[in-house]
Amino acid sequence: MNRNELGKSLNLSVELIAKGRPNRSGRPILPTYITIHNTSNDGPGADAAAHSRFVRNKGYYEWNGKKRFVSWHYSVDDKQIIKHLPINEHAIHAGLGNGQSIAIEICMHKGIDQSSANSRAARLVAALMNDLGIARDKIVPHKHWTNKTCPVLLLPSFGTFIEDAESVLASLTASPTESLARDGVVSVEEFAILDQTQDAPVEAAPEDDPEDAHKQIANALAEFLATEGD
Ligand SMILES: [Zn+2]
Repeated sequence: MNRNELGKSLNLSVELIAKGRPNRSGRPILPTYITIHNTSNDGPGADAAAHSRFVRNKGYYEWNGKKRFVSWHYSVDDKQIIKHLPINEHAIHAGLGNGQSIAIEICMHKGIDQSSANSRAARLVAALMNDLGIARDKIVPHKHWTNKTCPVLLLPSFGTFIEDAESVLASLTASPTESLARDGVVSVEEFAILDQTQDAPVEAAPEDDPEDAHKQIANALAEFLATEGD
């Protein structure tokens, strides 16, 4: 498989959070890490499409009487990947990881083919490693930044997940053209902007978020889906 074929195998579409929304600051980052999450949402229907609608149309949960905004770059399920932010923009997902990492949320809803979702995520990681030159020691679980138990399903075998991504990367054959695949994993514009964000500041430590942030998001998403049905 070459890089172009890898891109096609992802079934990736782009549904960006609108500029100006509170969970899209537009602040530039130079992504040197990839942070892996599980949604911790095992409810029915909590797939990539639902997470895309949630992060674009709501994008927060309420905690201690305050809105806590959240965002990430890619939602992955067993059928598709949806991208919500340019990879050179700040997302709100992992404390100090926000300023330097690309966030991938892997779904785990009722009825999902989990191994298919995991291998789709590993292929996305391989594409990003290829396109951005990110090394294996920079593929980290959410736990790396905050000590939270996330990604809850993958943590016990996180090394195997990285090995899966590495073996996809190692198996890539040369693409028919020399240029990187421009399939939306990393867009032409993002490649251009990445060259200009070398001096992106490392941000100060953000406010603490709750230990069970993913559960809070899962509850907010369930409320959001119920509202959609009205
Ligand atoms: Zn997480």
